[in-house]
Amino acid sequence: LLHIEGLWKSYGDRAVLRGVDLDVDPHEVVCLIGASGSGKSTLLRCVNLLETVDDGAILLDGEEITAVGAKEDAVRRKIGMVFQSFNLFPHMTVRENITLAPVRVHGIPKQEAAAQAADLLARFGLADKAGDYPDSLSGGQQQRVAIIRALACRPEVMLLDEVTSALDPELVTEVLGIVRELKTEGMTMILATHEMGFARDIADTVCFLHDGALLERGSPDQIFTDPQEPRTREFLRRVI
Ligand code: ATP
Ligand code: MG
Repeated sequence: LLHIEGLWKSYGDRAVLRGVDLDVDPHEVVCLIGASGSGKSTLLRCVNLLETVDDGAILLDGEEITAVGAKEDAVRRKIGMVFQSFNLFPHMTVRENITLAPVRVHGIPKQEAAAQAADLLARFGLADKAGDYPDSLSGGQQQRVAIIRALACRPEVMLLDEVTSALDPELVTEVLGIVRELKTEGMTMILATHEMGFARDIADTVCFLHDGALLERGSPDQIFTDPQEPRTREFLRRVI
């Protein structure tokens, strides 16, 4: 579904991604782990075309989305992204946040978008929040709305960047529950996460990034119980 090849990205003279190769199959859940600054967010941002890449290619459904002239809007339609800091529009209700892109970008009739938003809200336990403004919700609820907002565009892939790190511990569980449910439904996802327990639990593939290089990848069992690279071992020793 997604094919990343030889991806390089620098800020100034600092290489932040150094030749990253990654393939993601349909329904696969890939977790990116690695120290702060290792390039996890940058990689996700490149996939969503929020960053231009210096070298290499990203293909989605066999089409090179990093090619000059590729249609950014068409690409973002297929890729949903959720950030650590929710990024909801504060002056819009929950319903308006969720229906904005389907209506404006995808041309879905307002009624239909609202009905779909209501469905999604009900499914994720937020049926009574449609008319509320984001700042009246808890962090966990806001993050669930942010995830629903991304789902409303019916993406083929979801990119989740540290979606729980801004949350109090008791709110983390409810957001992780949603992610788990998306996996059950077969959503293809790439997650950057510091939650090793969660990565182990949900990932099909775990990728360890170090200084912009994808040093090691494997099944959660393999990475967490028998890492091959000394740097992976060192990282896991520090965080677990
Ligand atoms: P964290 O776990 O803290 O979220 P990360 O693995 O997501 O870290 P990135 O945010 O991808 O790391 O950052 C990788 C490196 O790129 C860091 O050294 C960071 O300082 C640098 N960087 C990121 N964005 C920019 C930018 N817009 N301009 C310059 N440097 C940047
Ligand atoms: Mg990050």
